[in-house]
Amino acid sequence: MIKSKKTGQLIVISAPSGAGKGTIINELLKRDNKTRWLSVSATSRLPRPGEKEGVTYYYLTKEDFEKKIEEGYFIEYTNYAGNYYGTPKNYIREKLDQGIDVILEIEIEGAANIKKIVPEALFIFIMPPSLKELVRRLKTRGTETNEKILKRFNTAYKEVNEVTKYNYVVVNDRLDDAVEKVESILKAEKCRVDR
Ligand code: 5GP
Repeated sequence: MIKSKKTGQLIVISAPSGAGKGTIINELLKRDNKTRWLSVSATSRLPRPGEKEGVTYYYLTKEDFEKKIEEGYFIEYTNYAGNYYGTPKNYIREKLDQGIDVILEIEIEGAANIKKIVPEALFIFIMPPSLKELVRRLKTRGTETNEKILKRFNTAYKEVNEVTKYNYVVVNDRLDDAVEKVESILKAEKCRVDR
């Protein structure tokens, strides 16, 4: 007999800065916030104007963050640009068991750590349109100094290398298209035989 248990999917979304992943995720949640849940991370960085405690992040001091690391509070954490960022463990299992998809908006190192713990999670990389443009320019233009070209290429190369660790890549050149693409990925994943 075929048994079916509806569990949620763990979805990891990463992007280089400026790729617009926050906007895409907001749009996904606007469309459906009943079967989708965005995990709120903790950070030791200070709030930026407009950010809200418990909505954007949980803001902790460096000391409190380190205490929580020791207590095993995080499923993953990292040090990014001099500040801690971490995904709290609580709620994730509960939401997945309720059939709710859990979205983690985290950087590449955190994503790699999640992959070690939850290899069946879905990994989506959002690419900024400027990278595509950059590759085109690198190929066709000869006006930049060699040093500049090399520096840009190195950055692009690093990002492209990271992409290969993800299941899907979505280039955000038009917001509507990018959101549609992510929606299609999420729908297709629900139809997978191994799920
Ligand atoms: P920002 O300071 O701009 O809000 O975030 C900096 C980076 O940290 C972004 O790439 C963001 O996705 C990432 N980030 C946010 N929360 C977490 C988290 O809980 N874990 C990890 N590994 N990265 C995170």
